[in-house]
Amino acid sequence: MKIERDEKFATMLYKKIEAHMVDGSRQPDGKFHVSELLNPRLAYFSRKYGKKLTKTDIGFFIPGIAFHEFIQKVLGKEMAEVKLSLPPDIEGTADMVGLYFSEIKTSRKWTIPADPEPHYVEQFGKYLAIANRKEGHIIVIYFTANRTWNGTKASTLEIVTWKVTTTSKDRNYIKIGLVSTRNLLNAVVNDKEKFNSLPLCWDWMCGQEFKGEVRLCQFYEKCQPEGRYPESILFAKEAKIKPKKMVEFFKKEKCASKNPRIPTIV
Ligand code: SF4
Repeated sequence: MKIERDEKFATMLYKKIEAHMVDGSRQPDGKFHVSELLNPRLAYFSRKYGKKLTKTDIGFFIPGIAFHEFIQKVLGKEMAEVKLSLPPDIEGTADMVGLYFSEIKTSRKWTIPADPEPHYVEQFGKYLAIANRKEGHIIVIYFTANRTWNGTKASTLEIVTWKVTTTSKDRNYIKIGLVSTRNLLNAVVNDKEKFNSLPLCWDWMCGQEFKGEVRLCQFYEKCQPEGRYPESILFAKEAKIKPKKMVEFFKKEKCASKNPRIPTIV
C-alpha cells in the first residue's frame, strides 16, 4: 500500500465547493439584508466591486452550513428557520429550533467564553427586534473545545446556549438603528454620501494576524479604515478600536439607550 498526500485532488474539491457556494450566493434583489446592515461599509464595497470568495471564507462557511443543514435535517426546514422583514425593504433569516427563536453559530475557539461574542448579540438583537420577539437563544457550537496547543489531547464538541431577553425599548432603538443604517447605506450607494460616513465594521474584520500570517479584508486598501490603517496601526494591540463610530452614529440618531445595539443578557 502506498499513501501520499494529494493536493491536486484537495484543490479540485475546494473548487467544487467554491462553485457550489457561488451558485447559491444571494443575487441583488433591491433589498437590504440584516447581514449587510451589520457591517454596512463592507456591504457598500461588496455591492460596488463584488466580493470574492476566498479559501479562508470557504473554510469558515463550511462548518456553519453543515451544522445548520444538520439541524434542518433533524427538525425539517420549516421548523429550522424563519424569514423576517422590516418595511420598506429590510430582510433577514433567523434560525428556529422548533418553536424556539434562535441564532445558531459555530466557533473554532478552544476555550468557551463566559459571554457570547458581541457581534453574535448584535446580530441576534436585530433579529429579535424585527420579529418583535422578547426573547430567544444564541446557540454556539464550539467544535474544537478544549483543544491543546501541542495537540496532545483530542478536542470535544460543546453546545453552549445563552438566553437573550430584550425590552420593547431595546427593540425600538434597534429598529431605529436598522432603518437609519439602511438609509445611510442607500445614500452612499447612490453617491449622495461618502463611504466613510458609514460606520466601521467590527475590528477583526479589517484584518487578522495568526501565526505570522496576515489576512486583510479584500477592500482594506480602498477603505483605509480610520484608526486601523495602515497595517502597523491595525496590528498594534493598543490601536484595536471597537466600532465607536457605530455607537456615535446611533447617538446621532437620538437613541437614548447607552448601548442600543446590545440587548440585556440574562
Ligand atoms: S477594511 Fe474594515 S471597515 Fe473597511 S470594509 Fe473592510 S472590514 Fe469594513
